[in-house]
Amino acid sequence: MRTRFAPSPTGFIHLGNIRSALYPWAFARSQGGDFILRIEDTDLERSSQAAVDVILEGMAWLGLSHDEGPFYQMQRMDRYREVLAQMQAQGLVYPCYMSVADLDALRERQMAAKEKPRYDGTWRPEPGKVLPPVPEGVKPVLRFRNPQGGVVAWDDKVKGRIEIANAELDDLVIARPDGTPTYNFCVVVDDIDMRITHVIRGDDHVNNTPRQINIFRALGVEPPVYAHLPTVLNEQGEKMSKRNGAKPVTQFRDEGFLADAVVNYLARLGWSHGDDEIFSREQFLQWFDLDHLGRSAAQFDEAKLRWVNAQHMKTTPDATLAQHVQPQLQAMGLTPDDRLPAICGLFKDRCDTTVILAAWAAKFYQPVVPAAEELAQHVTEPVRPAIGQLASALAACAWDKAAIAEAIKETLRATGLKMPQLAMPVRVLVLGTPQTPSLDAVLALLPREDVLGRLSSV
Ligand code: GLU
Repeated sequence: MRTRFAPSPTGFIHLGNIRSALYPWAFARSQGGDFILRIEDTDLERSSQAAVDVILEGMAWLGLSHDEGPFYQMQRMDRYREVLAQMQAQGLVYPCYMSVADLDALRERQMAAKEKPRYDGTWRPEPGKVLPPVPEGVKPVLRFRNPQGGVVAWDDKVKGRIEIANAELDDLVIARPDGTPTYNFCVVVDDIDMRITHVIRGDDHVNNTPRQINIFRALGVEPPVYAHLPTVLNEQGEKMSKRNGAKPVTQFRDEGFLADAVVNYLARLGWSHGDDEIFSREQFLQWFDLDHLGRSAAQFDEAKLRWVNAQHMKTTPDATLAQHVQPQLQAMGLTPDDRLPAICGLFKDRCDTTVILAAWAAKFYQPVVPAAEELAQHVTEPVRPAIGQLASALAACAWDKAAIAEAIKETLRATGLKMPQLAMPVRVLVLGTPQTPSLDAVLALLPREDVLGRLSSV
């Protein structure tokens, strides 16, 4: 069992693209097979190293590890030329000298006659056929002798049986006049050399598949199993693409999403296991199969991704979250310490990204400046004496959650205030907002002198 992901580095890889890596990876991992990474970089004008880097970084971040590769098509040109020469020797390809102008004229005649534009086989050698004289100084393309008659058929694991009449397929150009091989040919040579058993890819390649199958068979190799995944649409219902604003995969990492949550979200974007929405990577690998791939286009929904991320954050150990938050605090110039896991534990339930969690944690490592409106609304004249009394109690008590809770109760008893009347202003003074987890837990995670300082700041 061998699968592959074969991205073209012609733009920053987005979530829709990387789903085409997740499924073959999961299939290989769940079946004990191998997963191969191949970079299809033959479009020199549109390919870039920066795009390759985002592919490698994005896959590493999501934990989609490959067993072989990355192989780069540009480094395999000698191999493609070798197979071309072999095909030429076997009569599987032939040179075609038709000029671009003649091809255009042919296409126009066919369109005028309401026929499908296709190469007419002028240069295809047949027994007894006389070919036109070879024009001087013209370098030919090489065309593949597509079988004539019959159908090409495959049982697609997503789309079911697909049959295409060979009469629909003309003789594909597989090498340009300068001898460079073309896309469909390279894919087949690679899939053969890399012994790929299952091709799982986007359904924008369905039209290439019958052509590729014919090339496989001409080379004497049985084609792999194919599964063509439906498109991923963006929130506007268009095909997801960087042209209409799809973010690079790595941006989700930078925005504070957890790799396991993104894997969970992407897994569900075109595959299902009953009604299960939230699952771990291990469960996914246990459950994944090609039989439950969805047939209709899936639509990206960032709100749902955030929800999935929030669910994963709740069950992620505090120490692990702290590892995500620590570098973010350091980037803000702060110096987190061993309180950080407990701070993450206290706030993780109210955050849907680690960036939001880091914003909470930052309040424990730098001065907090409450907004004037919050102060005006909550820290009113009548509660000021109670705040002073609480500060005195806190100055004298032991510094742990239970003792702090007792100091708060004592202040409430002495002043006759209700909990929210005291807790809201204290929260505003200490963390800048009236919405925080329970006050004793928050205060216990701050050094006593910081709490006393913040309470006496107004
Ligand atoms: N390089 C192609 C792409 O990025 C994928 C080719 C394949 O999976 O066969 O769309």
